Amino acid sequence: AIAGTAYLAYGVYELRHPDDQFLPDPTKKNLVILGTGWGAVSLLKKLDTENYNVIVISPRNYFLFTPLLPSCTTGTVEHRSIMEPIRSITRHKKAAVKFYEAEATKIDAERKVISIDDISDVKGASSKTDVPYDMLVVSVGAENATFGIPGVKEHSCFLKEIGDAQQIRKKIMDCVETATFKDQSPEEVERLLHMVVVGGGPTGVEFAGELQDFIDQDIKKWIPEIADKFKVTLIEALPNVLPMFSKQLIEYTESTFKEEKITIKTKTAVKKVTEKTVEAEATGPDGKKFTEVMPYGLLVWATGNAVRPVVKDLMSSIPAQKDSRRGLAVNEYLVVQGAKDIWATGDCAVAGYAPTAQVASQEGAFLARLFNTMAKSEAIENQIHELSSELNLKPGVDAAAVAREIEAHEKQLRRIKDIKPFHYTHQGSLAYIGSERAVADVSWMNGNFATGGGLTYLFWRSAYLSMCFSTRNRVLVVVDWLKSKAFGRDVSR
Ligand code: NAD
Repeated sequence: AIAGTAYLAYGVYELRHPDDQFLPDPTKKNLVILGTGWGAVSLLKKLDTENYNVIVISPRNYFLFTPLLPSCTTGTVEHRSIMEPIRSITRHKKAAVKFYEAEATKIDAERKVISIDDISDVKGASSKTDVPYDMLVVSVGAENATFGIPGVKEHSCFLKEIGDAQQIRKKIMDCVETATFKDQSPEEVERLLHMVVVGGGPTGVEFAGELQDFIDQDIKKWIPEIADKFKVTLIEALPNVLPMFSKQLIEYTESTFKEEKITIKTKTAVKKVTEKTVEAEATGPDGKKFTEVMPYGLLVWATGNAVRPVVKDLMSSIPAQKDSRRGLAVNEYLVVQGAKDIWATGDCAVAGYAPTAQVASQEGAFLARLFNTMAKSEAIENQIHELSSELNLKPGVDAAAVAREIEAHEKQLRRIKDIKPFHYTHQGSLAYIGSERAVADVSWMNGNFATGGGLTYLFWRSAYLSMCFSTRNRVLVVVDWLKSKAFGRDVSR
């Protein structure tokens, strides 16, 4: 038993401390992957790293499981539970992978060089350098769209990164504690406890649902004196929320929000944000437009994606990209149109699909298959080349046998090279809408099913749990769910 335990411990130790150091092999191509999100990580997971010198560059040294990010804003799930260090992903690869924590600031497609900027807080640390590439995958995602609306950047919280969720969590409690402070005026209490969400896409809807749960299930019980003062308002410019879901689920979501006392203001477009108010242009039932000014305590801005500057800059250097607006236009093999040896996946790529985690992760897996195949066919081509020269240069070889071998290799090569273009398989859309209900539009066995309610919520939970990156993440998320159910969410700031 002791020997067994010692052997197991040694195995774990070995796993955690791989001997391999990243030493670039001059005979291999440099494959640089920008990003550690859904596209990049799903590529990395399936990529045979022995074929290339793989270098990953990202300002975030972890993968973030974004579907559970709204749950982090209220403490239903703790932030570390949905983060997976990139090193724990790379250390399991067959050949070592280099990781640089830095932001790519410029991609020079002519010289095949990327300029990177270290984001380290360490004083005096070197910051800017260049990384050359032979092959490049751009998976940098997108930034938050603000449409240039004044005051948005300065006064609202976004919901894209882990820091955003932490900021929201602090801000909620800050509003609550300030509202209960001595001698607050009733108007100020009302303002502080008015939580406004702009954008009725899945991000806005899921956050509004989580927030209302937090208020109803915890804050009201802990601080009853302000229980009836809370108000959550969801603002959407279009006539309805969740436009990507079926009509019945939109109606179900809207009626659930009504029950939960979340106010939905559709046909209302925010035009200006100040430190304490949101100004919107609303359209009444008679079609007349009017301006509405809403004081708020917390403002969460979730109006979708915009192109990152580094991507915009790359697009402007490629003439074939001049008509693309929403990101890098790619062909059916995810090759950036008009560029050589550059591929793109996820929210920074325009391949004709919605910018979702599902699309990005399938694109990443496709690129891994493509690159593994490319390396394999290159190796076979080299073998054919060697055999051909043997045939020509070495006297006395069995010409018929070598020719048969060459033919077998060529056959194998044809089979390998026949890689089909990227095809996206939509598995469905899921969203949590609060009070332990979810909506799901699921594609299954050539059919589409739309469901909403408590059972769908259990399905939502199990689907997200199975999609978590690692067993460690899964265990942590389940523990968080149990913890927040048993003891209530943590209301400390
Ligand atoms: P989105 O683009 O889906 O929705 C943004 C909404 O904001 C739009 O409906 C738009 O009309 C509205 N809007 C824009 N400007 C406005 C203004 N000034 N005032 C009021 N409303 C305004 O954005 P998202 O929810 O962040 O989602 C981004 C992408 O990620 C989408 O493709 C989405 O499908 C995907 N996503 C999916 C899930 C899920 O499946 N559960 C969760 C999050 C995100």
